[in-house]
Amino acid sequence: MPERMRHVPLDMEKAKRPEAEIHIIKDQCKGCGFCIKFCPQKVLEESQEINARGVHPPKIVDESKCVICGFCTAVCPDFAIFVVEKLSKEEIKK
Ligand code: SF4
Ligand code: SF4
Repeated sequence: MPERMRHVPLDMEKAKRPEAEIHIIKDQCKGCGFCIKFCPQKVLEESQEINARGVHPPKIVDESKCVICGFCTAVCPDFAIFVVEKLSKEEIKK
């Protein structure tokens, strides 16, 4: 725990870290690599796959490391990647 956090929040156990769900629209990707380069968590890497545009789209290395910052979506010139928060079954039913 960081030193600056003097008091642990009372509901600490109830807080859950949001889980990411990354969506890559492979055939829309032009292989620029911006999403791979600018992801602060190094969640993505170039795949060996070749898409409809003849380039290598990114692939997910470790989705659990994603912090849903949205950088990949912001820098993608072709709107080929977006990230949403994964919902539990209970949250979907609501
Ligand atoms: S949302 Fe942020 S952490 Fe997650 S894959 Fe995109 S750039 Fe990386
Ligand atoms: S930023 Fe977009 S177009 Fe560029 S490699 Fe990533 S998904 Fe493909």
